[in-house]
Amino acid sequence: PVRVRFAPSPTGKLHVGGARTAIYNWAFARATGGTFVLRIEDTDPTRSTEENTQIILRAMDWLGLDWDEGPGVGGNFGPYFQTQRSDTYQAALDAMIAAGRAYPCFCSKETLDAKRAIAEAEEGGYAGYDRTCRSLPREEAQARIDAGEPHVWRLAVPEEHGPVEFFDAVYGHMSFPIDVMDDMILKRSDGTFTYNFAVVCDDVNMQMTHIIRGDDHLSNTPRQVLIYEALGAEVPVFAHLPMILGADGHKLSKRHGATNVEQYRDEGYLPDALVNYLALLGWSMDGETTIIPPAELGRHFTLERISKKHSIFDVAKLNWMNGVYLREMDQDAWLETAKPWIARAAALGAEAEGGAVVVPEAAGSADAPLDSEDVADAAFAEAVAAIEADIDEDGALYRKIYPLIIERLERLDQIPEKISYLFWGPNVQLDEKSVKKVLLKEGARAEEALRACREVLAREDVPWEAEPLQEACRALCEPMELKPKLLFQPLRVAVAGNMVSPPLFESIELMDPEDVLARIDGTLA
Ligand code: GLU
Repeated sequence: PVRVRFAPSPTGKLHVGGARTAIYNWAFARATGGTFVLRIEDTDPTRSTEENTQIILRAMDWLGLDWDEGPGVGGNFGPYFQTQRSDTYQAALDAMIAAGRAYPCFCSKETLDAKRAIAEAEEGGYAGYDRTCRSLPREEAQARIDAGEPHVWRLAVPEEHGPVEFFDAVYGHMSFPIDVMDDMILKRSDGTFTYNFAVVCDDVNMQMTHIIRGDDHLSNTPRQVLIYEALGAEVPVFAHLPMILGADGHKLSKRHGATNVEQYRDEGYLPDALVNYLALLGWSMDGETTIIPPAELGRHFTLERISKKHSIFDVAKLNWMNGVYLREMDQDAWLETAKPWIARAAALGAEAEGGAVVVPEAAGSADAPLDSEDVADAAFAEAVAAIEADIDEDGALYRKIYPLIIERLERLDQIPEKISYLFWGPNVQLDEKSVKKVLLKEGARAEEALRACREVLAREDVPWEAEPLQEACRALCEPMELKPKLLFQPLRVAVAGNMVSPPLFESIELMDPEDVLARIDGTLA
């Protein structure tokens, strides 16, 4: 049976590249009825933190990548933290020593550096360890150890070894010349074990059948294969995943935008959409299907369809896909997910003070997004509570918001800027550009149109519903000899502050009549 693992080092948060590796391991286990193991590789004490471990576990949870063995769930092959597995590494080393596959080395770092410098100057290129200590008689070596002389333990690579070969499900048959492989260190003089040794011991003891990981590990693999051989263990199938690159062809990094899974969560992406998108960065189901929800992925994933080519992270495509997932959610689930974002809109709205305010062009745009830091905590908490109370009641208002914005929504964090005007009360925050283009350019005609609309909206005999209000306003066009656009655009700016708000009369219906009239008055003033 298939056993695979995702083995993050908690030296940082969960990067999207790491998330894709996790997704492939998870999907492969699900598709084969195998076991998905999560192992925390926390051996680097200076860079690993408990906080990062927690962040990674939370990100895995959020993505919905459930693991069958590992932190929090246990399993028969634990512990699942490398720092708790030193005795297993020592046991493996002892077995190798007994079999003559590992030996102690007393060469100091200074000696090695000096030798290497000379060798490299003479031969050019990398020069490995020259195996000085490999020929020390056992008794002499033991005596020096007993005398407390500092030493490391090295792998004894067989003298007569051909090239190192292994099968990679992505790259096919791989072969590396043996002469670039020196007798690598397994255990350092401070008693800690090296990364390559620990990984192989774990993968052997945890009975991994396939190793799916980023191709940044490809250069480690031939070394690891030598360790498998020395342990007398079967070598698993490898699948090294090509890098994810940014649009400029460079390795994906902070320069390209969000790189950590939690940033995507905070920017309003849905976990299923992110999993779907990342899965397609280097894998395809049939070369054409793009919407593959995680459950489907867990049925159809195969190693054979992993691409050898690097893939390019395309935020526009991710946004499109997220929009598809947002529209496919049923309304109740959407409401639940969107709640904090609607609350943010309400809190932003509650902040508006005084009469009409002209907002500088950049505010609320992509360059200067309105985020929670703009919002006083108390106002935010209050808004969340109010919305939750309303949703618990019947959610009428919020159900009406849904059709207003769902059509073009790509990210949940667009909600506040799209609908905060619904929460401004009697005040309007006028967008500078819209004021110029719609109100100032048309001058008197815009003012006239606005006054006429105000009169219609104030009429008691027109029900406060989108359609009758719209019809009654539209009836003004003929007598006033105005195109509908010239009538409706000034009203839109006066009510919503800008030219591009969601459907106008549907929005007006959701608002208090007094507030709508007050905003028009504020704009006219
Ligand atoms: N801990 C390694 C990393 O975070 C992964 C090692 C492996 O998958 O073999 O990159």
